[in-house]
Parts: sequence; structure tokens; C-alpha cells
Amino acid sequence: RPADVQHEKPKPDFLREFLDEIHAGHIRQHLRKFTRLPHLAGTEQNLRLAEQIREEWLAFGLDSAELVWYDVLLSYPNTTRPNYISVVDQHGDEVMKSSLAEPVPEGYENVSDIVPPYNAFSAQGQPEGDLVYVNYGRTEDFFKLQREMGINCTGKIVIARYGKIFRGNKVKNAMLAGAKGIVLYSDPSDYCAEGVKPYPEGWNLPEGGAQRGNVLNLNGAGDPLTPGYPAKEYTYRFSLDKGVGLPKIPVHPIGYGDAVNLLKNMGGASPPPDWKGALNVSYRIGPGFISDFAQNKVRMNVHSYNQVTRIYNVIGRIRGVQEPGWRPRRTLIFASWDAEEFGLLGSTEWAEENAKMLQQRAVAYINADSAIEGMYTLRIDSTPSLHTLAYDITKQVMSPEEGEEGMTLYDSWHKRDNWTDNRDAPRISKLGSGSDFEAYFIRLGIASGRARYTKNRKTERYSSYPVYHSVYETFELVERFYDPTFRRMEAVTRVRGGVAFRLADAPVLPLDCNEYALALSQYAHTIHRLAQKHPQEMERYAVTSLSVRMVNDQLMYLERAFIDPLGLPGRPFYRHVVFAPSSHNKYAGESFPGIYDALFDIENAAEPERAWSEVKRQISVAAFTVNAAADTLRPVA
Ligand code: GLU
Ligand code: CA
Repeated sequence: RPADVQHEKPKPDFLREFLDEIHAGHIRQHLRKFTRLPHLAGTEQNLRLAEQIREEWLAFGLDSAELVWYDVLLSYPNTTRPNYISVVDQHGDEVMKSSLAEPVPEGYENVSDIVPPYNAFSAQGQPEGDLVYVNYGRTEDFFKLQREMGINCTGKIVIARYGKIFRGNKVKNAMLAGAKGIVLYSDPSDYCAEGVKPYPEGWNLPEGGAQRGNVLNLNGAGDPLTPGYPAKEYTYRFSLDKGVGLPKIPVHPIGYGDAVNLLKNMGGASPPPDWKGALNVSYRIGPGFISDFAQNKVRMNVHSYNQVTRIYNVIGRIRGVQEPGWRPRRTLIFASWDAEEFGLLGSTEWAEENAKMLQQRAVAYINADSAIEGMYTLRIDSTPSLHTLAYDITKQVMSPEEGEEGMTLYDSWHKRDNWTDNRDAPRISKLGSGSDFEAYFIRLGIASGRARYTKNRKTERYSSYPVYHSVYETFELVERFYDPTFRRMEAVTRVRGGVAFRLADAPVLPLDCNEYALALSQYAHTIHRLAQKHPQEMERYAVTSLSVRMVNDQLMYLERAFIDPLGLPGRPFYRHVVFAPSSHNKYAGESFPGIYDALFDIENAAEPERAWSEVKRQISVAAFTVNAAADTLRPVA
């Protein structure tokens, strides 16, 4: 640094001022006001909240804030014909019926319009048949059923426990197995932590609670009727039967109070030990019930309907220019996305409408979905080039934990969740999907990240958090259990805000290309190890070793360069060659997804020759893309 620079008067530390302005009390107030009433996408109440957000943003001093609407396909229960699961005897009489709604928690007795548990976009119908228990409904669960246990699900109704993977993948797997309906239930082994009481005494899922959620397989398409284009008034719409990702079978969620009545009399083979949940039943696989009840069938009754409905994003801007008074160097866009729960619709439609601007000008995308899913430590998932910035910011935020006064969030996080034996730093994971960053990261190739507070991954085995998507997911749940002082929320807000602040204001973009190179070489090794499981085939089909082709250089990368305009096989909107949501679990990220999927279960390929040539093709796409990405960073002529 030249000596004269050191004598300049110190610049005000705007980042510090910004972080210090974030207060737990404000977050508490905002959460209180936005959680008083149900506000399902497409309802009047949700429009009111969108208008309120717009007004608040203007009052906060944003340069602009506007509602941006789309007409997208949503799904609602039929209010006059409720959805439920029943057991019918040989006379067709219903001998058991699942509950139509969850018992309403204290304080919400007078709230109307609480939507009953349902799976958005379920097909309508009343299929009747024998039940088969399919564990979590994962690819590996159906493999076990079909290949090892010889169970055929064709024409059966399957029952899967929630957890481990995105529910839409369970439904897809059930359809592929030939099931004519799928019941999803929450097992206490996945939705109750040990030593914790059910809500409202504690934060466990009560027996009457059930998990809502969409069951689409969109693969990044957004609105099912307008893939690729914004769902505006001028847009061509597919007919409902051509919609992207709509399940063809009925799906319905129930709680464990009801599930026990379906599972208790099941017959057939005993389950593998790890298929047993925590209910006091045998978890037999079926099909159907034990002898005394062998005549009984399960019937699903699903009458939900799909409807094109208007949704409203709120889009706010702070213009980036240099002038007296702080303004960011780059424009900041704030977005409140509508209809996330219906398949990331608001965020994807806006990405479609603004794709040309975004792909030319967007520096980064920071997601802000639920800020807390546990009480243990920070969780960050991001593109590798954001690792260093995430570390820098967490070193400037203090730990929210009691007894850690004076400790940074970075140290608190590091102490609780060290990355690996080989890397002494807090863990940062790959991005999967299941939230609104998807179109920005996986389709458009914009550097993306997310942050929230989380549970202890080593000891807390339950999926997401126990009352996830139930009526018990209330303001009081946060205030009584997850974050009574709102200091965890405050810390998360500072991380998200601090990262966005630096991306908008740093003279040189705080993106670390070396971290990308490091991650790529690790992913290449992972794929290499996978391929090495088939040494003979690798030789026979002359598959070039990936590590040699890809780990040679220490170049810098830019996110956009990893986009393949042709997309991944069968998934045209998943275009990132390095990262995609797993084909078996939308929530999880897969690295080098094209190669991974080509190698998946290849030992059972009907035509090995073709399967291995697809592996080779995918390797060449990955090798080309990584090298082309490196080339974009060479000095210009
Ligand atoms: N976050 C919502 C869920 O998990 C929507 C996810 C999605 O459609 O990708 O159900
Ligand atoms: Ca669209």
C-alpha cells in the first residue's frame, strides 16, 4: 500500500453500521405480523400481505417497490368434498376414516380459512386397493421391494413415511412402480425428537398433525402450464393434461394418529429392520391386511382441484450509484416470492420474464427462506465461489448463543460443525433445491447461497423439523422454543444481509474462484471413485479417466460458464453442469449430475453398450464445460 493512502482519513464502515442496525426486536415484530392469519398463495389475504410488504419497503426508503403478478396453476382442496383416507369392509362400508383437519392450536380457535392438510396438485380420484408399505418411498426402497422382496406395487395403494427426500420424488417413484395412489404419513421416528413434548408443550409433531406440500416433479419448469415463459395474459398455456410434472395418481398426507390405524393390521412380509418407524405396529410390507381383515381395502378420497390463479411477487430496488450518502455500488433487488410452496412458481416466473437482464447483469442471488430449522448452529449452502465471503461475514457477526458472549458466529459455528478431517473450517454444503434460488442458480447460472439456523446433524435424526408444514408451525413455536430472544434470527439476518451488502458494495466482486477449483477437483474425485466401481466396463468401453482431464488446472471460474444451453438429459431447465437437484431427491444437491445419473444403477442397464456411451458423452460435456469455463477467465487477447 502506498504510504500516502495510509494517511487518508478512515472511511466510514458502512457494513458495520448496517449489521448493527439489524435488531432481534424488529424481526420479532415482523414475524408476529406476518403469521397472524393464514395466507395461502392465491388468496385475498396473501395479496394483502404483498401490498403491505410493498408499502413497508417504500417506507424503509427503497427507490421503488411494485407488485408483479403471474397467472399460474395452483391447487386447492374442494371445500364441499373433503379429502380423507378410509378403510372399507367387504360390504363397502367405511370402518375407519382419517381426520379431515388438524386440531387447531390454542390462540387460533377463531381463525377461519385454515387450509386442511393436502398435497397440492394431487390427482383427483377414489382408488381402492391393498396397501403396501414402501418405507420412505426412495429409489432404493422401491429397488429393495421389487428386486429383493419380489413385491409388485401395480394396482396397489402405497403408504410412504415422510422424510429423507422431497415428497414429489416419492410420488414419482410410486407412479413408476404402478401404484394407483399414495398415502404420505409422518412417523414419530422422523418427526419427534427424543425427550421433547408434542406442541404446544414442546416442539414435536402431535399425533393429529400432518404435513402439507406440493407433489410436483417440475425439474425447474416453474408454472406447469407455461414452461420457459412468464405466465402473463399473452402467454400460451398447455392444457391441464399436458402440464409439467403433475402427478397422475391421488396423494394425501396424514398424521401418525391416523397412520397407526392403517398400518396396525397389515400383513405380508416382515420389514427390514431399518424400515421400522416408532409406532407400536409391525410395519409389515403387505400387500393388504392380515387374515381377519383380509377383505378390507384402503380407499383414498381426493377431490382437490387445479386452478389458474393470480399470484403477486413484490419487487423492490435500491439503485446503485455513487453519490453522497450511502448507496451500493451495484443495484440491489429485493424480491418477496409468491407461491413458493406450489413449486417455486413466483420466483421461476420472474426469472423467466427477466432472464435476459439476469443472465447479462446478475452478480449473485441470496435466498431467504425459513431462517430457523433448529437450535444448534448456522447452516450455509452455497456455490463454492461464495464460501470465502460467507466466512468473512460470519467473522463480523457475534454468536447468538447464551454463554458465548464475545465469540464470533464463525467460531461458534466452526466449533459445532467442522467441515471434514481434511478441512478445518465450518461446513458449507452444496445447494440442492426445494427453494426459490433454483431458477437463478441451476437454470441461469447465477452464483447463489442460502443461510439459516439449523439442528445438530449428528444427533438430531428427524427430517426438516417436526411440525414442518403443519398447523402447529406458529409464531409461538419460534417464540417459545426455537428462538425466544430472536437472537438466532438476528444472526441469520446479519449473515444474509452482510453477504448481500458486500456483493453490492465491494469494488472487486467478492467471489472466490479458487474455492470453485477446489470444489471441482473434489467432485471430480467423487465421480472418479464411482466409476472405479466398474473397472472392467471402464476398460471395455474405453472411458477416459475424468480426474486426468479435469483436475489439471488451477483456474478461476465464473458461474454462468457452467450453464449448458441444452440442459441435462430430460431436464431442459436444469442447465448447470456442475450442480443439479438430485434426480432422486429435489432437496439434495448432486455434483456433476449428468455423469452421476448416467452411472446410476448402470449395473442393471438393459443395454450396457448404450449406457456406457452415455457415460462417455456426459464426461465429455463436463470436461468441455469446465475447460470452457476456465477459458472465459484467461486474459482477454
Ligand atoms: N419448499 C417447498 C417444499 O418443500 C416447495 C419445494 C419445491 O416445490 O421445490 O415443499
Ligand atoms: Ca412459466
